[in-house]
Amino acid sequence: DSIFSHVVLAPEDPILGVTVAYNKDPSPVKLNLGVGAYRTEEGKPLVLNVVRKAEQMLLNDRARVKEYLPIVGIADFNKLSAKLILGADSPAIQENRVTTVQCLSGTGSLRVGAEFMARHYHQKTIYIPQPTWGNHPKIFTLAGLSVKTYRYYDPTTRGLNFQGLLEDLGSAPSGSIVLLHACAHNPTGVDPTLQQWEQIRQLMRSKALLPFFDSAYQGFASGSLDQDAQSVRMFVADSGECFVAQSYAKNMGLYGERVGALSVVCKTADVASRIESQLKLVIRPMFSNPPIHGASIVATILKDSNMFREWTIELKAMADRIISMRKQLFDALRTRGTPGDWSHIIKQIGMFTFTGLNSKQVEFMTREYNIYMTSDGRISMAGLSSKTVSHLADAIHAAVT
Ligand code: PLP
Repeated sequence: DSIFSHVVLAPEDPILGVTVAYNKDPSPVKLNLGVGAYRTEEGKPLVLNVVRKAEQMLLNDRARVKEYLPIVGIADFNKLSAKLILGADSPAIQENRVTTVQCLSGTGSLRVGAEFMARHYHQKTIYIPQPTWGNHPKIFTLAGLSVKTYRYYDPTTRGLNFQGLLEDLGSAPSGSIVLLHACAHNPTGVDPTLQQWEQIRQLMRSKALLPFFDSAYQGFASGSLDQDAQSVRMFVADSGECFVAQSYAKNMGLYGERVGALSVVCKTADVASRIESQLKLVIRPMFSNPPIHGASIVATILKDSNMFREWTIELKAMADRIISMRKQLFDALRTRGTPGDWSHIIKQIGMFTFTGLNSKQVEFMTREYNIYMTSDGRISMAGLSSKTVSHLADAIHAAVT
């Protein structure tokens, strides 16, 4: 008998498990709208041209070796990543008040930031939006923080519960950490307006709440890298402190390369360098030092103005295709006369639409139409194409009538 016979079978991950179920389905019309990964009009994964070009350049460079990186990763990558999210002319960068460490995509950056806070920050409570990306509560709990939620989404309007958000952050203990989605909130696709962000900022600063931004979709929401970074930049322009976790999974299509960065914006250069020394103590026993390849691709693209421009064009094309899918799905439901108000499909932002379909309706669509999505009714617009919109619209129509 195994000494592990007491180990129980764990459930599939609620998001990645959708793909597992999809892969088992033999139907030719099956549709995977679960995982947040970009697909082309042909339903294929996309490697950006500029990424292929950067990889070719790296391959041709015989001087490149496979030595260990420093614990904090590639210095160029870190500087350029901070510039990308904070802005090229950010005073915080010029004043050396920002420390950036290369981590394992967005997830790893969140985890490293959270582990640092659990060790060195006086408040161990983090407030996350309700709802949020399913991995957030697990990441923060395992890092040693205590997780609470703040109201975010209002199912009746399918928009922001701004009043509830202000009330909940307003009654959070002073100094608490607050997780904010920089843009394209997952799963709801609902973002505060700039005026609302400004109110959130004032409230948080007045109560010394510490912002921890999760930036997983910069450039993906609007098609503009600068526009999608505005929320973060507002919190940096006031000279206050904040944490930012960046992912290049979506905006450069580098999902499996696991490229990301954690930046800590501090009051002084001295604090920034002491924090960096402590981040190294978090990283070293966790994964020692980060991998070379993905971050080299990113650094190659970010430091060359022509390649950077090429990237922004390809990024905008991905964002535009998603926005066009929103329009097509909305029109298809209108054509069918599907009951209900579906305008949230075109109002929501980023990769996902939070349809408002309940778990029974989702189950029905999977069973009868071979359409796979998370049970909260979230669909990845990036998984849809002009050819599959009508199948989805038929399924939604049947599910609600
Ligand atoms: N944060 C949010 C809100 C996400 O949606 C995701 C990916 O789906 C991530 C972070 C992190 O992804 P990754 O670790 O692949 O960069």
